[in-house]
Amino acid sequence: MSQSLTINRQLVLAERPQGEPNKDTLRLETSTVPKPAPGQILLRTEYLSLDPYMRGRMSDAPSYAAPVALGAVMEGGTVAQVVVSHLEGFNPGDWVLCANGWQDFAVSDGEGVTVLGPDLAHPSWALGIMGMPGFTAWAGLTQIGLPKPDETVCVAAATGPVGATVGQIAKLMGCTVVGIAGGAEKCAFAVNDLGFDACIDHKSDGFANQLKAATPKGIDVYFENVGGAVFDAVLPLLNTAARIPLCGLVSGYNATALPTGPDRMGWLMGQILRKRLTMRGFIIFQDFGHLYPEFATAMTDWLAAGKIHYREEVIEGLEAAPRAFIGLLRGESFGKRVIHVGPEKMIENKEGVI
Ligand code: NDP
Repeated sequence: MSQSLTINRQLVLAERPQGEPNKDTLRLETSTVPKPAPGQILLRTEYLSLDPYMRGRMSDAPSYAAPVALGAVMEGGTVAQVVVSHLEGFNPGDWVLCANGWQDFAVSDGEGVTVLGPDLAHPSWALGIMGMPGFTAWAGLTQIGLPKPDETVCVAAATGPVGATVGQIAKLMGCTVVGIAGGAEKCAFAVNDLGFDACIDHKSDGFANQLKAATPKGIDVYFENVGGAVFDAVLPLLNTAARIPLCGLVSGYNATALPTGPDRMGWLMGQILRKRLTMRGFIIFQDFGHLYPEFATAMTDWLAAGKIHYREEVIEGLEAAPRAFIGLLRGESFGKRVIHVGPEKMIENKEGVI
């Protein structure tokens, strides 16, 4: 079923996954399109962002944000168009950045809705390079990583929207950049298209030794996106006073328990102490939201100058989102994964069509 002006498709959380989400995790429901009251706007979703954090929202384990309730529309960042406006400052046809979640239409009072304007060359980029992932890369690197020219920066999930941006900004700052990615194709892309100095396949034999060979001067900044076996290989290579922006641990998002094996907490703490490592976790908008304008200015300039390469993977149709999300956590995505929910140009006149 494609997007229509009369039916609102919604993907709701049907059950909390144990381990990897599956076909029963989300349920497709339909309802009538809501009508905006005075002081409200009706928004039609054009693009839905898929992001690793959504796995956390499916769980009711304690976290920095509340879980999605069972039966509620799955949360998600969206780029939408204003269809009807009864609210000053919003005009039919305006693109907006909002959090409609996994559905076609939503009514809003404007809170948390950012007007992007009527004409955008790349509306979906507000969910990627100009939005949360790009901002996360910039802030984690510049505020915690603090790289200096000629230092070695290492980043995992190196071709994803965060990792690719981290590495490219580090190159612009004069660093040597070594990426870690899954598979030869992603690694070739990191070197040939993103300009990394090297990229090591974490699925290949001898990964730890290859990473050591690729970082002859050690690692000064490790931007952590994945954790697990990748971090095990990185930790011995960290230099004295290295910085670790702890951004994400996607290798463990589907885990139901801590890994078995010997307790290595003492070893980790010893490394932090003896090497005087700085490891800081951060949640982008809670820690650095005030810096967004600074990031947006810098990234706009870099993109205009062709200094940052951005790869996006657009998947058609809301119904494709659940499977696409499972694949995202498996490493199947290549670049920023977004769902194209609806056809553009559904707004037929300035008054709106509903
Ligand atoms: P990506 O699109 O890069 O997707 C995740 C990638 O992680 C996969 O493509 C895969 O890449 C890699 N991966 C998955 N499982 C494993 C594994 N077991 N071992 C190694 N690599 C694995 O994600 P994003 O760029 O959107 O996000 C990157 C990280 O940043 C995530 O952890 C996310 O949660 C975090 N984040 C944190 C924010 C914050 O405020 N702290 C804000 C935004 C994102 P590959 O195939 O190359 O291995």
